[in-house]
Amino acid sequence: MHILVTNDDGVQAPGLLALAQELQTLGKVTVFAPDRNWSASGHVKTLDRPLRVREVLLADNTPAYSCDGAPSDCVALPLMGFVEEKIDVVVAGINPNANIGHDVTYSGTVTAAMEAVITGCIPGIAVSLDAPEYHSGPLDYSTAARVARKLTAKVLADDLPAGVLLNVNVPYLTEEQFKGIMVTRQGLRVYLDKLERRVDPRGRPYYWIGGEAPTGILEEGTDFGALKAGYVSITPLHLDLTAREAMEVMKKWEWK
Ligand code: MN
Repeated sequence: MHILVTNDDGVQAPGLLALAQELQTLGKVTVFAPDRNWSASGHVKTLDRPLRVREVLLADNTPAYSCDGAPSDCVALPLMGFVEEKIDVVVAGINPNANIGHDVTYSGTVTAAMEAVITGCIPGIAVSLDAPEYHSGPLDYSTAARVARKLTAKVLADDLPAGVLLNVNVPYLTEEQFKGIMVTRQGLRVYLDKLERRVDPRGRPYYWIGGEAPTGILEEGTDFGALKAGYVSITPLHLDLTAREAMEVMKKWEWK
């Protein structure tokens, strides 16, 4: 088994190290990740500049590739031939913060998993930890890493339908504390963003998106609902965003 590990926080992020170490127990792992933090960069394809790749070592001396492209570029390059050996699955993470509801459109972690489906026609798994908002000091990624290993083994052994990626969110609890694993649907994020207008030292205004951390609608069966109830949430996603109900309405429109 050959697993490509990436993330959106940068190749030296501790969440990636925890994930790579755990997945090495399943098979061969190739690490290919961005050289800096691309959180909330969305789905990117870099076309107007060259992409550079450097060989680096992770903190435990695991060899890795560091690239100046976006997370989705870091999946596309290996799948398009940079890595010659066949890749079976892409696992992205472990992101320190949850990716639920509309977050999936912003998240570099989730869009890296989307790229696995698009460029490689292979499954992608995005793994995020719901770390407390004002946590200081190093985070404990061990529970999320073990969940990622179990799930990756399942995906490799069972037949997930083609074109599907998994968005996984793990509560910040020990394995004994969390209640189990729940297959969920995408819920609704509630963003509390506030636009801050400030003035720079030259007297010119600039703008900064601030505000409180997002929350969500607590609804049973959703990613947010499961996570807040202490469950690992796994949401299968596909990339067909068609609003089918709207199609039915629009087919009745008259186009004179
Ligand atoms: Mn991130």
